[in-house]
Amino acid sequence: MFQPKGAICQSCGMPLSRDKRGGGTNADGSVNPDYCSNCFHAGAFLEPKLTVADMQQKVRHEVKEMHLPGFMATKFVKQIPTLKRWRDATAGEPPAT
Ligand SMILES: [Zn+2]
Repeated sequence: MFQPKGAICQSCGMPLSRDKRGGGTNADGSVNPDYCSNCFHAGAFLEPKLTVADMQQKVRHEVKEMHLPGFMATKFVKQIPTLKRWRDATAGEPPAT
């Protein structure tokens, strides 16, 4: 399985090194190292109703905007269901391959 190096957001898969704020924030204002500031703020997801398919579509679009090659986009999108946020949500279901 694809294992990214360095910390990535466990919701959208973007490298946290790209995050200006270095991560999302917890309810007490401390940094949450699992999620980026685009996904997680003040202890809650910014878009709590987002599904894994929605996130994949969003990230595919964002990666396109960054002008990354197609295989990079595929790599980014494919890793999303394995991230902590979605892994927990789909626990018990067979992995989508
Ligand atoms: Zn994120």
